Amino acid sequence: MAISTIETGRTPRTRNSNRPKRVLIIGAGPGGLAAALLLRHAGLDVRVIERMPHVGGRTSSIQADGFRFDLGPTFFLYPTVLERIFRRIGRNLHQEIPMVKLDPQYRVMFGDRGELLCTPNVERMEAAIAKLAPNDAVNLRRFLSENREKLTRFRPALETPFQSWRSLLSWDLIKMLPLLRPWNSVDQDLRRYFSDDRIRLAFTFQSKYLGMSPFNCPSLFSILSFLEYEFGVWHPTGGCSAVSEGMARIAREMGVEFQMDEPVREILFDGQKAVGVKTDVCEYRADAVVVNADFAQAMKKLVPNQIRRRWTDVKLAKKKYSCSTFMLYLGLEGTNDHLHHHTIYTAQDYLCNLADIEQRHVLSSDPSVYVQNACVTDKSMAPAGKSTLYVLAPVTHQHPNVNWAEEAMKFREVVLNQVESKLNIPDLRNRIVFEKMVTPHDWEHGHEIYRGATFNLAHNLTQMLNMRPQNQFEDLESVYLVGGGTHPGSGLPVIYESARITSRLLLQNFGLDTSWLEESESTSTVQPMAT
Ligand SMILES: Cc1cc2nc3c(=O)[nH]c(=O)nc-3n(C[C@H](O)[C@H](O)[C@H](O)COP(=O)(O)OP(=O)(O)OC[C@H]3O[C@@H](n4cnc5c(N)ncnc54)[C@H](O)[C@@H]3O)c2cc1C
Repeated sequence: MAISTIETGRTPRTRNSNRPKRVLIIGAGPGGLAAALLLRHAGLDVRVIERMPHVGGRTSSIQADGFRFDLGPTFFLYPTVLERIFRRIGRNLHQEIPMVKLDPQYRVMFGDRGELLCTPNVERMEAAIAKLAPNDAVNLRRFLSENREKLTRFRPALETPFQSWRSLLSWDLIKMLPLLRPWNSVDQDLRRYFSDDRIRLAFTFQSKYLGMSPFNCPSLFSILSFLEYEFGVWHPTGGCSAVSEGMARIAREMGVEFQMDEPVREILFDGQKAVGVKTDVCEYRADAVVVNADFAQAMKKLVPNQIRRRWTDVKLAKKKYSCSTFMLYLGLEGTNDHLHHHTIYTAQDYLCNLADIEQRHVLSSDPSVYVQNACVTDKSMAPAGKSTLYVLAPVTHQHPNVNWAEEAMKFREVVLNQVESKLNIPDLRNRIVFEKMVTPHDWEHGHEIYRGATFNLAHNLTQMLNMRPQNQFEDLESVYLVGGGTHPGSGLPVIYESARITSRLLLQNFGLDTSWLEESESTSTVQPMAT
């Protein structure tokens, strides 16, 4: 049972001390907020220090002139993980943060080679696939059932810390190899089900959620598209940023302290042991420091290079990083009722676009673009008679080949042309009444993201599990990590899961009960669809 000051009205004490342990969390992103909820529920004295005036990090909102946009995430997937966290702190996710399941969940356009309206309804999805590739439609159910098995078998790895090679062995990796086929890419794995490259694309583009190409992304991540079909693609009212705002509201109600608009300048150490942090306002002392800020950037800026061993500046520079994104947030006169909530337009020459992003590090002339037309579902995102378009083009992370000061306006034209012509909004430019652009340069310098790699360290096999920066950070004492830079990885569900893994480790180290953090899958309220 967790000890909570809220529920019990008494201040819990740890085994060796008379005062509650103090934890500082650097960053109010999804990982930091989830950790704050759990650690506060366990009775710790929790303070979140955030450099921005608002919570949410990459999962925050842009609000202007009555328009509201998600800055980053727009696909809320696999709510099961956050539902469990809410249940553990005595709340109900869906009561606190209303959300709707989308059907159709998105439309995928394959250059000028047709399109697929993707639905979580298996019969309708089979029929939609059959129109493009009759032989592939029959394999949808096999894809779903084999990935259901894959998720069940891999879930323990996503829910446990990987602190050494020993953890890998105890997880029985060897037995799982035939199922996981880690030597294959997602695309190679999907060839076992779908021979038509368009159908494969519809089930593999999700590797972009990790900032990777399906041709490089390990086959394990075929579970990403499976999760969409099994548990749905959700739209929280007000966008994914509303989830961050809801979590912060609850954290405040529980007694978590927030210092906003106050960047941490350095983590304070006694030898290798973190003892607090320093901001421009003051020094805060703590028994543990949880880093939610972008991992590589935080290491470079907040921790002296000489006290890091495995993650020195030189080693960080040699790691592989995800792609970045070029963003346009457009407030429009009028609505776009012909557009679905999510549309993914994949470049005519998809392979060339991927090579531009990951190998050549140049901008494409025919880029893939993703467009969210949230107002078709959620009128709260724009004033009456107006609407929002969120436009994302995956691009190279910061690289000397692209000087954004010179390229941004030119690339804006390319992206607007794609949206106008491919998504059929001929009068788009004339209707723009609000606009904000975010480039990889802005992600790096405005949002403190290393190389502007919006999805963190890449998820290649050599940067996963015990080879990813560990939840109880291996280089330093009393430092913990949460968020996309640590295990299990980037993307909201696993980021929330990282908070549970990290909280468990931290509480165990303080000698506190962690049994309340465990919960069997069967208590989940979101039912997988029947197949
Ligand atoms: C464009 C885009 C689209 C995405 N789409 C999806 C999607 O559809 N679905 C999905 O599941 N995931 C998506 N993601 C990935 C991921 O879910 C989000 O990026 C998520 O917000 C990352 O959470 P995090 O906890 O790692 O930290 P972040 O969101 O990065 O938050 C870190 C926080 O730390 C703060 N901080 C940094 N430095 C300091 C400092 N020195 N002092 C104090 N505070 C500091 C930052 O201001 C920030 O608030 C997307 C990401 C991007 C960028």
